Amino acid sequence: MGTRPPERLRIALQNAGRLTRDSTELLRHAGLEFEEHDRRLLAPCRNFALDILFVRDDDIPEYVQDGVVDLGIVGTNAVREAGARVDVLLELGFGYCSLVIAVPERSPIHSARDLSGARIATAYPRSLKAFLRDQGVEAEVVEIRGSAEIAPALDVSDAICDLVSTGSTLRLNDLRPLVTVYESQAALTAHPGSLRDEDRAAGIRRLELRMEAYLTARRLRYVMLNAPAAALDQIKAILPGLRSPTVIPLADPGLVAVHAAVEEEVFWEVLERLKAAGGSDILVLPVEKLMR
Ligand code: ATP
Ligand code: ZN
Repeated sequence: MGTRPPERLRIALQNAGRLTRDSTELLRHAGLEFEEHDRRLLAPCRNFALDILFVRDDDIPEYVQDGVVDLGIVGTNAVREAGARVDVLLELGFGYCSLVIAVPERSPIHSARDLSGARIATAYPRSLKAFLRDQGVEAEVVEIRGSAEIAPALDVSDAICDLVSTGSTLRLNDLRPLVTVYESQAALTAHPGSLRDEDRAAGIRRLELRMEAYLTARRLRYVMLNAPAAALDQIKAILPGLRSPTVIPLADPGLVAVHAAVEEEVFWEVLERLKAAGGSDILVLPVEKLMR
């Protein structure tokens, strides 16, 4: 499909919106060099056989499905709403949001079942209808464009179904969340046909590995410390590391240096326990890339 030069891959990114900065940064962390001052429609990478197409996010799922591009970075919400047949290769850890149904604070609606007969305004009709069908609720879906949050105040609807991340927009509009339809985040998606083409698949795989290496590394901190040799067993037990920690003898025979990678979520707890176990001169470095 498509009439592109077979030797270059194409990836679609959102041109101006919530996903744009994280998407371009991810590509840069994957080692790609490209210009984007004016986010021209098609930005070629200088050091990888890849062209970047900047478009509206809503267009990305279909472009990927139809093979206009090989790859796309887009919210899984947009993929689901489009009903696009694409392969989700990698969740990217940004663009987190949920599609929720919300009602005015003083609404008598308190459960999904109470929505029966209600009017629900949304720019996500496909997702909402699928949800209502699942729940066995018959409600009227009022399709709108853009944000739905003022629809109840205008008496266009009794409820809304919209994307939220913090929920502050809901509170600002005197709405309370009723139920979550699904959670979403940005994902690397691929055209199934490109994955069946040997050359394209190889290029896609290289990109995917680079992104994975960055995403994995971002969650890690490299910890170096000195410890009494006698405390080594205890210290090793605290440090899960990737495989096992690196232990280096020091000039002072009573001391060793220990190096290990630690997950960010448990990082502070690990640091406190290392200190308590006799660790000193604890040095922490970011991890740039990790290829397993
Ligand atoms: P475009 O002009 O490209 O169509 P848009 O206004 O539809 O832009 P944005 O508001 O930039 O799109 O949102 C793009 C994506 O960001 C959403 O589809 C969703 O995946 C994600 N996102 C993360 N948090 C939120 C949020 N609080 N509200 C809406 N989208 C969010
Ligand atoms: Zn959009």
